[in-house]
Order: sequence, then C-alpha cells, then structure tokens
Amino acid sequence: MKIAVIGTGISGLGAAHFLARRHEVTVFEQDSRAGGHTNTFDVATPRGTLAIDTGFIVCNPVNYPNFYPFLNELGVRLQDTDMSLGVSVEEGRIEWAGDENLAKIFAQPSLMFSPTHIRMLLAVVRFNKQVKQLLADDALPDITLGEFLEINQYPMALRVRYVAAMAGPIWSTSTAGVMEFPFPAFARFFESHGLLNVYERPQWQTVVGGSRSYVQKLLAKFGGEMRLNAKVLQLRRENGAAFVRTSAGEERFDAVICAAHSDQALTLLQDASDAERAILGNVPYAKNRAYLHTDKTLLPRRRWAWSSWNAILKSDALTDEPIGVTYWMNQLQRLPKAITGDTQYIVSLNPPRLPDPASVLYEVDYEHPQYNPATIQAQARLAEIQGQRHIWWAGAWTAYGFHEDGFKSALRVVGAIDRDCLPPYVSGIDLQLPSNDRFNAPMDSAAPALA
Ligand SMILES: Cc1cc2nc3c(=O)[nH]c(=O)nc-3n(C[C@H](O)[C@H](O)[C@H](O)COP(=O)(O)OP(=O)(O)OC[C@H]3O[C@@H](n4cnc5c(N)ncnc54)[C@H](O)[C@@H]3O)c2cc1C
Repeated sequence: MKIAVIGTGISGLGAAHFLARRHEVTVFEQDSRAGGHTNTFDVATPRGTLAIDTGFIVCNPVNYPNFYPFLNELGVRLQDTDMSLGVSVEEGRIEWAGDENLAKIFAQPSLMFSPTHIRMLLAVVRFNKQVKQLLADDALPDITLGEFLEINQYPMALRVRYVAAMAGPIWSTSTAGVMEFPFPAFARFFESHGLLNVYERPQWQTVVGGSRSYVQKLLAKFGGEMRLNAKVLQLRRENGAAFVRTSAGEERFDAVICAAHSDQALTLLQDASDAERAILGNVPYAKNRAYLHTDKTLLPRRRWAWSSWNAILKSDALTDEPIGVTYWMNQLQRLPKAITGDTQYIVSLNPPRLPDPASVLYEVDYEHPQYNPATIQAQARLAEIQGQRHIWWAGAWTAYGFHEDGFKSALRVVGAIDRDCLPPYVSGIDLQLPSNDRFNAPMDSAAPALA
C-alpha cells in the first residue's frame, strides 16, 4: 500500500516506522526537523556541549509498557531521575516541596506554624485515602475535579497549592482549568502514576543524550521517505483514495495517517464529516511558550525547595492564568557538573514573568491538549472516524496526552491497517475497541499481546 503519515511526533514516527516494514510510506513534516515535541537543544559551553530536552523529557517502565520495549529495540539507553515537585506561590510568599525527603514540606520553616498549611497537609492525606477508596469501590462520581473538591469541602489551599500545583504542570493549564478536568479520568491517572502515594511511585527516567536520541536511531533505520519542510495544506478523499496537498502539489495515497494535533488535523480536511468535526473539534489545544534559560530566579526562592518540577503560581486562588512550570534540567537530566559548572539550566513554560533576556538560550511554542467532559466524550467516539474514507487519526491527544498515549495510538492504527507490521511486544491495546483503552482502563494494564 502507498501510505502517507502527517507529523513526526512519537505518533507519526511510530506509525511510519512499523508500516514501512511492508508498505511504501511517505512522511510529511512541516518543520525542518523530525520529532515534534521530542525536541532536544544543544547548548555549547566552554567545557562541552549539553543536549537539553525542552519538550518530552521523562517516562517510566510501568506507565509506558509499549514505549519501553520500543526504546529497547532501538538500542536507546535510559537513566534514573527524580520527580520531586516544588511549589512557589506569589513570588515565594509560600513555598514547599514534595519529595521523598518529607522535611521539604517545610522548606519554608514558618509554614510549620501556619494553620492553612497544616490543614492542607491533613487534607492531602484525606484526599489520597478517599480517592483510593472510590477507585477500589469502582464508585468514581461522574463529575469534574472541581465539583468533587467542592462537594467534599476540601480547603482552598489543597485545591490550589496541592492538586492544581501537581496537575497544572502535567497538563499545562491554569488552576481553574485543572478544576474542569473530569474527576474519574483524573483519579485513574493519579492512581496509575502513583501520585496518590508518597512512596511507591514508579522510577522515572530520562533518555541518555537527550530524548532526540531515539528519533535519531529510528530515522537511521527508517525504510520510508521522510520529507521535512513539507507542510500539508489539505486532505481530501475521492474515488477510493486520499489526496495530500502540499505546496509541491497533490499526491494520491491508499491510506493517510494524520498524526498532527486534533485541531490542526481538522483544519486540513476539506470534506470533514459531522462526526470528524464533532470529535476533532472537541479536543482543544492551548499554546504554551517554553524558554530554555539560565535565570534561576524562576526557580523557587528557597534553594531547599528547588525540585525537578516546580509549579510557579502567581496567585493563591483559582484563576485562569496558566500555571508556570519550571523544569530544573540539571537535576532532571543529571547534566554533568563538569560541564554545567554552577550554571542552572532551566526550561520554563508560561513563566509568571519573562526570564532575563540575556539568559535565554532557546524559545519555542508548544501546544497541550485540554481536557473537559466534552473532550472525554469526543475521545470515546474516535472509533467512529478511524479509517473512514482512508484517513486514520493518531496522536497523544487520543488519550492523556503523553508519549505512551501517542505511541499506543500509532500501534492501534498500524494494527488496523496491517497487523503483520506490529511488533511482538504490543500491550494493553484492544483493536476491537480502537479508542477505549484511554480513560476507561488503568494506564498500566498489561493486556495480552495481540494475536
Ligand atoms: C514542554 C513539554 C514537556 C513534555 N514532557 C513530557 C514528558 O516528559 N513525558 C511525556 O510522556 N510527555 C510529555 N509531553 C507531552 C508530549 O506532548 C507527548 O508526549 C508527545 O510528544 C506528543 O506527541 P504527538 O505525536 O501527539 O504530537 P507532536 O509531537 O506535537 O507531533 C505533531 C507533529 O505534527 C506536525 N504537523 C502538524 N501539522 C502539520 C502539517 N499540516 N503538515 C505537516 N506536519 C504537521 C508537527 O510539526 C509535529 O512535528 C510534554 C509536552 C511538552 C509540550
């Protein structure tokens, strides 16, 4: 078959890699590099070069059961990291951190005497226990996270400084936006990622040499045609085929896998059906500006609160302002001190104020899928449009928005087009239910491999 793949994120590259084993695959990427959100930037220093991740950074073997064997197959090496979280509110007025060193809860010692902080800590224990019980009883109420916290009278400090501070950086949204998240999806995600426990969390890892290493290894083995700087302008279907238009003209394919974001995908369709409009149109994306810089004033004020991930909140209330996230890359990627010296390398998304311009090494716009009840309904309908009139849909947006989600969406499409192209390690994907393993099943469920 002649197959086109649009996009070179994990979803597009994953699908192209496997299908190229038995088909004629052409990949279209609008950018000048392959990788999408896998975007490692080289920083030259007098002591050597640092390969710093600005997009996809971490994964773990429990929640990424398909992606790990894939990395292994490519010969990619991983190293352990720590996923501590620092929280800094109103320019450091309130700061605390959560990692295995429980003393960091009081990184700001005066909080030991703050009734609000103590009430929040007690509420964390109650919250974790209640959510676990609801999961065990299979009794998750079909309401938003905000409604759940309101009905159960959780204090505002828990909502802002704990729940939103943890969830905001994961989905790059505002403190108010976190509250729109469907509670069952939130609960399952937090449970499967060990976020309802203080200990017993999965061992997170980063890719040695930066996450682009796996892209480079994949491209070195790729059996299809890769076209960079090739933006797809339009997709249309006619006479048993799909047609891809770029500035170079229109080409005919037997099948097209569109692995662009849902909103980008919809703009390409000249002849979108009602279902395509309803599904792709209800998984919105929000833009976030990311800066790689060395301005350490965007880390928490107190050195002890510096963590791998830091939620930087402008306000101690629920607002529509995007939550600032600061990734401390020296710690996350274990950058060698012999090269970094005393410089802190930081990636900030939506910082509350811009980093010192002299410290900015690279900046880029990213987009994150945003979740609300309509999104979940749209995802549940994905099977309705899969493969309809020769177009297939893949992307991290089909589930929680992470690398395993994108990779799984690619495997699902590969399996539907030609099962013989699938790798032997496929896990947790049911081709009879092409989209239903997203929010409805535990993330780490290891279903039997496809026959
Ligand atoms: C800052 C940041 C940090 C993250 N960290 C992690 C992490 O640590 N772990 C994790 O699991 N996930 C992380 N994520 C989530 C990440 O988005 C997903 O893991 C995944 O990389 C998304 O893959 P994708 O294939 O769906 O989309 P993308 O990687 O965005 O790929 C889409 C591709 O389609 C191309 N495209 C779009 N339109 C067209 C067109 N018309 N023509 C041609 N090409 C087109 C784009 O240029 C792009 O290359 C992070 C995201 C961000 C932004």
